[in-house]
This record gives sequence, C-alpha cells and structure tokens, in this order.
Amino acid sequence: MAGRSGVISANYPAENAAANPASSYEIAPRDLFRIMREIRAAKFELLGIYHSHPAGDNFPSPRDIERAFYADAAYFILAPQPDAPKSVRAFSICDGKVTELEIQALD
Ligand SMILES: [Zn+2]
Repeated sequence: MAGRSGVISANYPAENAAANPASSYEIAPRDLFRIMREIRAAKFELLGIYHSHPAGDNFPSPRDIERAFYADAAYFILAPQPDAPKSVRAFSICDGKVTELEIQALD
C-alpha cells in the first residue's frame, strides 16, 4: 500500500509466493520489483504491507517480526474470522520492537 504523507491511497495486490502460504507470506521478487517501480513512478512512498492470519490472532508472528524489512512501513494484519475482536490491526516493526498503530479511515 502506498501514498503520501502517511495517507494510503493506492493498493498493489501481490500473490503470496511462500512455500506454505497458509502460515507465512512472501511477495515474489518479480512482483516486488514491479510494485516498487509503480510506486516510484506514481511518486508515492511505500506506507504499508498487509497479509492475513487466516487461523490466528492478528498480532505479528515471530517470523513476521524477523522478516519485517521495511522499518518505515506499517504492517497490516487482517483476521478474517467473524469473531475476531479487531479485523484489521497495524503495527510498526522496527529492530524486533512491535508497536500497534492507530488506523484512521478517511473519506
Ligand atoms: Zn503474519
């Protein structure tokens, strides 16, 4: 997800290329390069990266924390279960430190 000044205005879907997509996520390098080019061409910044936890709590897993390579991006985690207390949460993950972020929806 990308935009300007902390406001996300564009979404770039990518396929989950992980060997076991039910429990981890990975953007294929080819998709990642294409998306980064598109973000630069639009003069946007990379602001967020999202994935879902289909079966679990939407808090970053140890693997999510270990592989959070973009310190400036917000990591959104979706919980599609109907009884999830919060279906969308966002976190800053920097040097292994996880901080939940506030999400505001703008019109
Ligand atoms: Zn995860």
